[in-house]
Amino acid sequence: MFSQIIEAQVNDLHFKFDEVSGLRSIIAIHNTQRGPALGGCRIIPYSSSQDAIRDAIRLAKGMSYKAALAGLSLGGGKAVIMEPEEPYSRKQLFTAFGRFVDELGGRYITAMDSGATIEDMDVIAQQSPHVTCTSSTGSPAPFTAKGVLFGIEACLKSLPKLSGSLSGLCVAVQGLGNVGYELCGLLHQRGARLIVADIDENKVNACVDLFGAEAVSTDTIHKASCDIFSPCGLGGILTEQSISELQCHAVAGAANNQLLTPECGYLLFQRGILYAPDYLINAGGLIFVAMEHQRWSMEQASLHVQRIEQTLLKIFKKEQQSGQPSNIIADQMANAILFDRSSSQTSA
Ligand code: NAD
Repeated sequence: MFSQIIEAQVNDLHFKFDEVSGLRSIIAIHNTQRGPALGGCRIIPYSSSQDAIRDAIRLAKGMSYKAALAGLSLGGGKAVIMEPEEPYSRKQLFTAFGRFVDELGGRYITAMDSGATIEDMDVIAQQSPHVTCTSSTGSPAPFTAKGVLFGIEACLKSLPKLSGSLSGLCVAVQGLGNVGYELCGLLHQRGARLIVADIDENKVNACVDLFGAEAVSTDTIHKASCDIFSPCGLGGILTEQSISELQCHAVAGAANNQLLTPECGYLLFQRGILYAPDYLINAGGLIFVAMEHQRWSMEQASLHVQRIEQTLLKIFKKEQQSGQPSNIIADQMANAILFDRSSSQTSA
């Protein structure tokens, strides 16, 4: 296990078993050099403790990178709860988890992630102040969508073949959930033409009716001829196969972990398709949930979201100069911020 921790440069791993509630949870704290580690709590069935540990470590590292490139005074952490197989009381489980979070004294701040709900965050808040995404926080999705819009604008500025303006350009949006739907509205307001797909027909129909979008199937959206492909649904959708089928100039969307492997970044680069690294372009949500811990006003948080565009422009410029793909450059920039003490108080 120490080899995993050392390889991912994780600061510490915490384990909790609570007999009464059946809680089996792991909190991974990747890095706290820039501030307390903020990251969601995921509750899903894991096939083994090893799987849960691996997930916590991988996700905590991703949160450190995201916070660093977003210029936040926060580190990265993540909690996983192994969902009990037998019937359990959700309230008891999250009460025990809240105590676990509190025992860490604020080194880790928890938030919502897969499987967890706002109600669960409210239960945690009864045990610990180190929680966000409660019912008083509100939804981060509009902030995430705004950040993606700034990311798309950075792509336009970096692609001489596009006009620099969204008006008349075509964006294919995959996944019309909280973020994707919001993004469609922003793009429509700016005169972009939309192609959309979702497994939920109602969401597709709403975009067709309200934004004049063209609907295509979920199997073919990535092949749509468009200027920007915006994945806002599932992760792992950029594979060797799907990349060979893309007909766009840039990929810029909210979904987490879009590249199946880091090597897929090279494939996009070789095809001349600009890729906005996911953890940078979708950082608006993290900026929103961090707002109260950073003691920022809405205006200050919005300025941070705008800076996603500048950071992306920097990355695209470096990509051109260095011949390395954007995902690798983003990782290098995040590592430099995280592990260079002299830059620990400066933003990306
Ligand atoms: P969501 O669950 O509200 O929306 C996801 C949408 O994708 C749903 O409408 C779902 O029906 C659709 N979908 C599922 N499978 C699909 C498929 N095969 N093809 C097309 N559509 C499919 O989630 P969200 O909050 O909108 O987040 C979207 C993505 O952005 C996720 O990957 C999430 O991790 C990431 N993200 C979200 C936020 C946020 O603020 N919500 C922040 C950062 C990253």
